[in-house]
Amino acid sequence: MSRLDAPGRILVTGGAGFIGSHYVRTLLGAGGSAPARLTVLDLLTYAGNPANLDAVRSDPRFRFVRGDIRDAGLVDRLVADHDVVVHFAAESHVDRSILDAGAFVSTNVLGTQTLLDAVLRHGGRTFVHVSTDEVYGSIEAGSWPESDPLQPNSPYAASKAASDLLALAYHRTHGLDVRVTRCSNNYGHHQNPEKVIPRFVTRLLQGERVPLYGDGSHVRDWLHIDDHVQGIELVRAHGAPGEVYNIGGGTELDNRELTGMILDACGADWDRVEFVADRKGHDRRYSVDCGKISAIGYHPRREFTEGLAETVAWYASHRGWWEPLTRPSAPALATAAGN
Ligand code: NAD
Repeated sequence: MSRLDAPGRILVTGGAGFIGSHYVRTLLGAGGSAPARLTVLDLLTYAGNPANLDAVRSDPRFRFVRGDIRDAGLVDRLVADHDVVVHFAAESHVDRSILDAGAFVSTNVLGTQTLLDAVLRHGGRTFVHVSTDEVYGSIEAGSWPESDPLQPNSPYAASKAASDLLALAYHRTHGLDVRVTRCSNNYGHHQNPEKVIPRFVTRLLQGERVPLYGDGSHVRDWLHIDDHVQGIELVRAHGAPGEVYNIGGGTELDNRELTGMILDACGADWDRVEFVADRKGHDRRYSVDCGKISAIGYHPRREFTEGLAETVAWYASHRGWWEPLTRPSAPALATAAGN
């Protein structure tokens, strides 16, 4: 990624999670957009991992605050001190939202509102809201442009749609500089093994079978975290206030194809796959039209087979990172192929 305008003082919510931590490591790394200060605000729920930030911990520009985006006093003090907020913090796992939607509404909706209120009080800030393609619902053919109506199906997607629309409402009502990104399924290193790719890879590495939902025909677009970070940075630096940008990876696969590629990458056969009952309300297909973000310079660069091989190699060489998350005592769910 070519160097973009430096963001000044940047507050990253959820920066100890999968995508947020990659964003932080990239910005503070060689060739990153070099913020004057970068503060992570993260509650360290089961999904947050301080080790994800080890690479930047000694950087003098970096600060970590353990706290809740629903804590209005804390959020107000932090927003006062920063020029840009990039908002990743969320409850992010669809299967958990099917079991219990409470934390999803509380964190994803009320947490976002708490942040937006602080931005409103202090004025002059840019707020980048990281949303998801799941807000659009499910599409049989073609791809969604950003102008399509939101028809979320899972409680997770509905809570993300509510926060996405709330952020846009603060732009329309109050004139806040809000920019929304809606990305497809992310993959890469440091992803919690509750999500499909690391779940399958870690189970195969442990010699176990992998559970595939339904008939395996659900289609997702796969986006490498490097490309997602590239897209968010373009929106932060060159996006327009009040606008929404889809970010896709350009690799649409059904879950059978995905499973076959993971088996190949791990040197395993189909006898390691167990077909299990489908997820409730499972969306058939997601597909985003990326024409709008292409116009500000976005092109996915990571080829899927290569990115997957790298991801598998990372899990194979970082057992200490993920093994504790797969033990029976870990708050993981017995989920199958779905992000
Ligand atoms: P993640 O679950 O790995 O990380 C979420 C982070 O938010 C964790 O570090 C967690 O501790 C933190 N957090 C949760 N509740 C909090 C609270 N109340 N206050 C402060 N911090 C809190 O999620 P991810 O996969 O990195 O996703 C990041 C964002 O991207 C989310 O908003 C998600 O909806 C969105 N997204 C993710 C994907 C994907 O494929 N992973 C796809 C589309 C959109």
